[in-house]
Amino acid sequence: MQRLQQDIGWIEVICGPMFSGKTEELIRRVNRARLARQHVQIFKPAIDDRYNARQIVSHSRHSVDSIPVETAGEIPALLQEGVQVVAIDEVQFFGNEVVEVCEGLADSGVRVVVAGLDQDYRGAPFDPIPQLLSVAEYVTKQLAICMVCGNPAGRSQRLGDGTGRIEVGASEAYEARCRGCFRLEETSGAAPDRQAELALESSGSAGSTSSDEMLEQASPKTSARARIVGGDQ
Ligand code: ADP
Ligand code: MG
Ligand code: ZN
Repeated sequence: MQRLQQDIGWIEVICGPMFSGKTEELIRRVNRARLARQHVQIFKPAIDDRYNARQIVSHSRHSVDSIPVETAGEIPALLQEGVQVVAIDEVQFFGNEVVEVCEGLADSGVRVVVAGLDQDYRGAPFDPIPQLLSVAEYVTKQLAICMVCGNPAGRSQRLGDGTGRIEVGASEAYEARCRGCFRLEETSGAAPDRQAELALESSGSAGSTSSDEMLEQASPKTSARARIVGGDQ
């Protein structure tokens, strides 16, 4: 009989557009691991702490407690003795260092489960998801249902309000669209604020803001990432 080797880690990536069930799937995997009495720790970007500071919440209102961190680099020091599974939601809001962190954890025998948007509101690849996909052992690409035609939806359509300001609430500000129904020109302020984006990237803070409640507070000070991509709760 073949025996499973102990302490073999790996990386699982759950990606897709908004409303595709990434957070639900992350929570499902976490709950199963916990049922099997595995030691699990869950992290999310600390920028979410203005609302549900310590919880990951899906659009269907499933939730699980989590540890907010400013950067992915904080995660290793927060790990408890004997941790077996590390889950990270909204991983696209961390910088590229999260790839190194995930690889280090997997190399040391931890099962790493991350979830995040694979495309921004323009349909462009959203770092560091492409990098994570390339080093992951398991990749799950989820799709939502197109709100226009009902086909499988891989894109997050930003719904413009004509002012360029982000609207409150994910379902009011964004909706799932298929390739055929996705319209970049429908988004308000469709031209990305590239200067702000570059400034953000060069400041080393690739991750910035993410969830619906952050959209509520959108202002000229809101990060380029948040304005370009919007939230994924
Ligand atoms: P994600 O993390 O990918 O944004 P969540 O796990 O938070 O997704 O939420 C998934 C839930 O979103 C679904 O179970 C469903 O209740 C809801 N939902 C809202 N709009 C859609 C849609 N267009 N297609 C599929 N699910 C949707
Ligand atoms: Mg989510
Ligand atoms: Zn469609």
